Amino acid sequence: MKNASWIAKNELNPHADWQVQIKNSITTAEALSEYLDINQSALEKTIRKYPMRITPYYLSLILEHGMPLFRQAVPDTKELLDHSHTEDPFREIPFSPVPNLIHRYPDRVVLLVTNACATYCRHCMRKRMVGYTNPKPLDMAVAFPMEKAVQYIQEHPAVSDVILSGGDPLLIETRQMATLIKKINVIDHVNTIRIHTRIPATLPQRITDNLIDALTADKPIYMNIHFNHPLEITDDARKACKKLADAGIPLGSQTVLLKGVNDSRYTLKQLFKDLLAIRVKPYYLHHPDPVKGTGHFRPSVKKGLKIMKALRGHISGMSLPHYMIDLPGGGGKVPLVPDYIKSIGDNHLIVENYKGDVFLYPDGQ
Ligand SMILES: *Cc1c(COP(=O)(O)O)cnc(C)c1O
Ligand code: SF4
Repeated sequence: MKNASWIAKNELNPHADWQVQIKNSITTAEALSEYLDINQSALEKTIRKYPMRITPYYLSLILEHGMPLFRQAVPDTKELLDHSHTEDPFREIPFSPVPNLIHRYPDRVVLLVTNACATYCRHCMRKRMVGYTNPKPLDMAVAFPMEKAVQYIQEHPAVSDVILSGGDPLLIETRQMATLIKKINVIDHVNTIRIHTRIPATLPQRITDNLIDALTADKPIYMNIHFNHPLEITDDARKACKKLADAGIPLGSQTVLLKGVNDSRYTLKQLFKDLLAIRVKPYYLHHPDPVKGTGHFRPSVKKGLKIMKALRGHISGMSLPHYMIDLPGGGGKVPLVPDYIKSIGDNHLIVENYKGDVFLYPDGQ
């Protein structure tokens, strides 16, 4: 078994250039078994249905820190045993008027730019499609054709916010990203472009100066980063976020509440504080979606609400995300808030504060 210091000195250098890391990332059970104690045949079976990719960088974090990161990236046979959920509970497919575009809310669309990611999250809500362009896991990301999607945006003046998602949009070639951003940027009625990515957590070396140039446009570009654990905030991740923030890209985070990974008030408190310290504003804490193959990651909503209650008031409001569920059937996202109102009358409310003390709040005139 090879350890973290072995890796640092060899071809799996966790700080290498991003293309080198994509090329050298771990995609087979055999390769992974050199570094981690795993059941090779069980892993192979799982990978056949849901591909694996782990960058040398993320592998080095797993070796250093163990379970909370291991669970997010290393396949588990539980993925194959999840019969209680469906592959596309949000009906993204029916909400897709043209290929690779989802239009559910009136003023914003999601573009699925590629189905490759630097490291495949075992809890992915688009597990049905990530990693599947080729029968084999990809060496390089293939950018999906975007002509029809761009044309759709041009023809729909109500669309003012365009979200690049996937897969991981930052995995397509820098030139392709520059071209896509330019095409969206010139559409008059588009006000904002958003990029949803996990790259700063799984392959922060991808945030190069060239990429920053590609992400420069007249329209504001916002970025929401998928960070799930304080141990993902390393010096490399810090550097990547600094580069993005210095370039004028406002950063937010989209964390998923994951059983056995971060479903504790202490872990999330640390994560949200650490994110704010690297100029990433916690935006959403997503309750995990009921997606086939990911059921073992789902805590109860009750637990999520309890954690939110334990955080509110105890850490800066700036570091508190909204806790969200996405309603199956395409109902959309809804924020869930712990109940602070104990009773509500015509002239007053009875409200509990963050310490559990109860107050009378005068209402009406
Ligand atoms: C989450 C989501 C959005 C963006 O929602 P915001 O609340 O604006 O961040 C847009 N379209 C779809 C289909 C989504 O699932
Ligand atoms: S990076 Fe995003 S799209 Fe890719 S596997 Fe993880 S959650 Fe899914």
